[in-house]
Amino acid sequence: AAKAAGKDQAAVYDVSLRLDQAERVRLLERLRASVDAGEFAVHYQPIVSLDDARPVAVEALVRWTLPGRAPISPDRFIPATEDSGLIVTLGEWVLRQACADAVVWHRRWGTTLTVNVSPRQLVDPNFTTKALAALRDSGLPPDALTLEITEGVLVRAGADAHQALLHLSALRAEGVRVAIDDFGTGYSSLAYLRDLPIDVLKIDRSFMPADNADTQQAALVRAIVDLAAGLGLTTVAEGVETADHADLLRDLGCERGQGYHFARPIPAAGLMALLSGADTRQPDPAEKVP
Ligand code: C2E
Ligand code: MG
Ligand code: MG
Ligand code: MG
Repeated sequence: AAKAAGKDQAAVYDVSLRLDQAERVRLLERLRASVDAGEFAVHYQPIVSLDDARPVAVEALVRWTLPGRAPISPDRFIPATEDSGLIVTLGEWVLRQACADAVVWHRRWGTTLTVNVSPRQLVDPNFTTKALAALRDSGLPPDALTLEITEGVLVRAGADAHQALLHLSALRAEGVRVAIDDFGTGYSSLAYLRDLPIDVLKIDRSFMPADNADTQQAALVRAIVDLAAGLGLTTVAEGVETADHADLLRDLGCERGQGYHFARPIPAAGLMALLSGADTRQPDPAEKVP
């Protein structure tokens, strides 16, 4: 049995993005078992204020953590969980776990949380109820949570687009914020910026210039930042990998950045240490940490 399991796993790692029907079924069985076995973890990547490089928020990024393996990136398994609907279960677990972790940082440092939400979750009639329960049970205030959706969310929700919009509007009315993730890479039109209830634009990392001579990319970033400012939206640049990126973004008026230049996604304990290190307040001996 162990040998068979090993073989199944090999199939998962080798071809997770292009699976035939049988492999897809095996991957899904393995994922389902992993949900039950608790073989997932949430890692966190800081989002910094570009003015002073201080972390102001963290993005929750799920990892598949099979015993004896390096954590597996969600790009390799999220698509299968979306096709099957398993993302509804997994996504709820991520949201609950992330809220529970983030409430500690939020109380201590005011750090807010962003969580990725798949279109499939947004057509679940119970999504608003589940999200509000995650907030209430953790104690994280709704205005400390941002949900990240992609431009194509309404297209992919299809006939249920109305349901997705209702969830976003209902949660926003409670104070939750909404961000468009990977902005600029979808095939949707600018009409989405008008029609979707949103607060934040995350500029996709593919727009980061290769070098200082790459003025075309810089022009695109400038256009997106100006567009967002005109609409009263906050901009976050993804994939900030160099000091040059950070300098350029600051010059263009982009408020926030996220990327390897600042920090990689790390487990909760490491993030806690990072935030402590970034805390320049005088320690208060009377302060009680929950
Ligand atoms: P995303 O939401 O756009 O997250 C940013 C991705 O870029 C993360 O990949 C992060 O590790 C990576 N990244 C951050 N900084 C840099 C950088 O400077 N350079 C480069 N090259 N990459 C950088 P990750 O963690 O592998 O996640 C991939 C995607 O999987 C996410 O893209 C998101 O769409 C999806 N995802 C992650 N967690 C969840 C989740 O809990 N639920 C859902 N539905 N999707 C998730
Ligand atoms: Mg994201
Ligand atoms: Mg992104
Ligand atoms: Mg992405």
